Amino acid sequence: MAQVVFIAALLFLFIDKIAPVKTDIAFAPVVEARDGTVLHAYLAKDQQWRIKARLDEITPELRKAIVFKEDRHFYHHPGINVLAVWRAIVNNTSHLKRTSGASTITMQVARMLDPQPRTYLNKCLEMFRSLQLELHYSKDEILQLYLNLVPYGSNIQGVKAASLFYFSKTPDHLSLAEITALSIIPNRPNSLVMGKDNALIIKERNKWLHRFSESNLFPQSVINDALAEPLTASRHAAPNGVPQFAHRLRKNHPGDMEIRSSLDRKMQADAENIVAEYVSQLKLHNINNASVLIIDNKTHEALTYIGSSDFADRYHFGQVDGVCALRSPGSTLKPLLYGVSFDHGLITPKTIIADVPISIKGYSPENYDKLFRGNVTAEFALCNSLNIPAVKLLDKEGVGNFVTALSKAGFESVFRSRKKIGLSLILGGCGVRLDELTTLYSSFANGGKYFPIRFTPQDTLQQGKPVQNPGVQVLSPSAGYMLTRILSELHRPDLPNAYEEAQGIPHIAWKTGTSYGRKDAWSIGYNKRYTIGVWLGNFSGAGVQELSGANTATPLLFRLFNGLDHNSANDWLEPPKEISFRLVCAETGRVPDDFCHNQVMDYYIPGVSSNEKCDHYKEVWLSSDEKYCYCTSCLPPTGYISKLLPNVSPELASFYDAGNVAYTKLPPHNPACSRVFKGQAPIITSLTNGMTYLVENKEQQKLLLSCTAANDVHKVYWYINDKFYAATKANEKKFFSAPSQVLKISCTDDKGRNTNIEIRVKFI
Ligand SMILES: [Zn+2]
Ligand SMILES: [Zn+2]
Repeated sequence: MAQVVFIAALLFLFIDKIAPVKTDIAFAPVVEARDGTVLHAYLAKDQQWRIKARLDEITPELRKAIVFKEDRHFYHHPGINVLAVWRAIVNNTSHLKRTSGASTITMQVARMLDPQPRTYLNKCLEMFRSLQLELHYSKDEILQLYLNLVPYGSNIQGVKAASLFYFSKTPDHLSLAEITALSIIPNRPNSLVMGKDNALIIKERNKWLHRFSESNLFPQSVINDALAEPLTASRHAAPNGVPQFAHRLRKNHPGDMEIRSSLDRKMQADAENIVAEYVSQLKLHNINNASVLIIDNKTHEALTYIGSSDFADRYHFGQVDGVCALRSPGSTLKPLLYGVSFDHGLITPKTIIADVPISIKGYSPENYDKLFRGNVTAEFALCNSLNIPAVKLLDKEGVGNFVTALSKAGFESVFRSRKKIGLSLILGGCGVRLDELTTLYSSFANGGKYFPIRFTPQDTLQQGKPVQNPGVQVLSPSAGYMLTRILSELHRPDLPNAYEEAQGIPHIAWKTGTSYGRKDAWSIGYNKRYTIGVWLGNFSGAGVQELSGANTATPLLFRLFNGLDHNSANDWLEPPKEISFRLVCAETGRVPDDFCHNQVMDYYIPGVSSNEKCDHYKEVWLSSDEKYCYCTSCLPPTGYISKLLPNVSPELASFYDAGNVAYTKLPPHNPACSRVFKGQAPIITSLTNGMTYLVENKEQQKLLLSCTAANDVHKVYWYINDKFYAATKANEKKFFSAPSQVLKISCTDDKGRNTNIEIRVKFI
């Protein structure tokens, strides 16, 4: 006997080896929130809603009810209930009644895995498969297979899909009444249709509840509650939340049937409501789309992802994912430029930059209000989003350096198009994405350290082990701190009109942006815990006059912060140990000299920030009548006076002259001096070297000459093709008619310093 058993066992193991049982099930892919609830589900390949229930979603109540109902000896038999099989054979052969009660849960699994016509041979095969299942899987895993395959009518398969579609919850949140209702449907999936036959289902359900009660399966109070529970369920639509995000995750995790994301279900839902309500008001102004991304600054996880405010709005392209759409950033890259310039020692918050008309390589930017403000501090320029100081700073920093910083912070498109990018980059002349911008600002909140955004826990796993991402230092902690201080300032023009009373303003640092043509409104803000990026506009690309970062995007940013994190602590701003402060001259923001009496406190980075002394005054030697000034070569041994006079830069002098602003000019240089001056030659500001100008010949259209010259220059002399053309005041504008197609233009100042340019003219 023992030998027979031994040989049978060997045979079984041999067949098991060559014909293993297959349990790969085509599940419907799902994207889950961080708590494991389903946000979005897709049909399985065979068009079934078959969503995998995890072991932890199969509660003891569910397990007990199913085992009691389907196979009471499930935990004690080896896959086949020998007694039941014997009974069935006897019943069937004696034609007493046909019974299928012999099927254990394991055998039902075997049949559902490989459905075959009901014959005695197939029944034997089923039993063999059951033994195999029992050999390779635990009882709980077999029950899990059963619950994942069991049909619930129509194309719903498995208990998870059923509980999501009928009760909008995962199986681990089902009540006993719901569990029991679900457990009876698989027996008659076509005549017990949830929503249609609810009265019948209740009758059947209660029958089983009474049986549970008789067997003391559950406490009587729980049974009584279940008996009294109404049944209002009907089939709901498939979970279809966060469509753009789900699509993005599926693309990143192909073949993954269960994608656990980083999204916070409640925060997502709250934000969706806030955004939907806000955009419904904006539709009156023809602003139809919004996108929002919220990042946890500590874990770098996306907690909320709103690709568009209304996915169903096909007319306004609601299916577009605005979080990864490439748009013009307006002014939103300016903070990074100022931060990089802090780190390169070019500026500190109180450094003075002249906001005056400029022309850099033919590029003449304007401020949003077309005004010029003269000397302003760097922090004022950033807070007020002035364009001219930003362009000057970018020119000083170098476009290449800045692009390097941007690519360190993950700006892919900017890096790809780096060869075509010029100074207009800082005013929005490039393409960026909301996720790139939001991640950048999150790095400001992290002491300048950039971490890629995470959408799933796997994003930080490599071969199953967590990766300790050290982050990339895009800015120093000191630069990040100075930026945060400036950007959390409340006296600024991009505070929305409705918030002027300073009520309900969250304690955050933020920056707005409005793209050229008013096509994009941005507002990106952060506090210690969260960074929120907001974009508003039209996916169609239509610009809208009312659209602005300050008045359209920022109110939504504030609402989101107030709605999600209104209790945030105010103590999040702590200076890093590397930063220090010092007194600087208010005229220049530089280290004060003896003549600098107006001093202000300023942050700086010791060893990095410039220690250059202030030069807002310079010492000049004048003749005793103060009519001429001297240089070292013509300074007489006696009879001169030494004086401190304001040191006004050529561009500022030109700006003052144009606006009739009084300032102290130096008297002309000693006419008897024979020295050839070095130093600043005039800069030709109108007509750009190497450019071709189109001129309408018949109209006798004229070209404009202008320059900026040093403070001590009174007259400049213009030459065209080496022929004297005109003498003008230093900052006077002069028109001329082009005499030929190739022109050499020279500008010489009264110190003999000369600048040449060459231009081409095309007569049309
Ligand atoms: Zn000074
Ligand atoms: Zn001289």
